[in-house]
Amino acid sequence: MIRAIFYDAGHTLVRPRAEIDEVWDFLAHQLGMHIPEERRTAFPDVAAFFYSRLGEDGLGSYASDRAARAFWSEYYAYALQPVAPGLPREEILSAGNALYDWYAEPAQWEPFPETIDALERGRARGLVQGVVSDWGSDLLPILHAHEITRLMDFVVASAVVGSSKPHREIFLYALARAGVGAGETVYVGDSYLADVLGSRAAGLHPVLIDREGKAPPIDAPVVRALTDVLDVVGRIDAAG
Ligand SMILES: [Mg+2]
Repeated sequence: MIRAIFYDAGHTLVRPRAEIDEVWDFLAHQLGMHIPEERRTAFPDVAAFFYSRLGEDGLGSYASDRAARAFWSEYYAYALQPVAPGLPREEILSAGNALYDWYAEPAQWEPFPETIDALERGRARGLVQGVVSDWGSDLLPILHAHEITRLMDFVVASAVVGSSKPHREIFLYALARAGVGAGETVYVGDSYLADVLGSRAAGLHPVLIDREGKAPPIDAPVVRALTDVLDVVGRIDAAG
């Protein structure tokens, strides 16, 4: 019997509010330079950077605020290199730092349209609900500002507990916090590696959220919206 749903935060419960152009404006301002339209390309894939660049060591990048900030500054420096080739690396890193601070502001995030409704339904079903996220200690004020914490029993941010996904420890910590067993818990996230494989390794029931329907067929239930997670819970209970 499922007694709890744990949620990933970024791109599962909340998304960045700003369009890419606004991010480029911010960076151009920080660097004191004009960045022409044709250079304002999409940012490189974060997960690909994360794992290819840092490998196994990268898995601990969210285990402290310092590590998370260092990771993102490196990432932005990498993304900015082709745009600002002549600038000293220190200057590019400092623009990355400023962007990290910008994203720590609750106003830069917004819940998905169905987030609050889905969480209210989970709560009405009497399920324990919590957040397990690779995030800095700024996560709590962000979730609080968007009225998500009122529907949660706890929030676990990797930088606060010193362990990040996909390692088992962060999931085991959350289970202990919630007072539920791994087999009684569903974990919802948008990353196959961090969320599906990580939570499964800790014994939870993984669910992948794929709002755009882009994921290839995988060995776990896939939902298009958070409001569909309760259907998966029903199926797990029925198979019980
Ligand atoms: Mg995510």
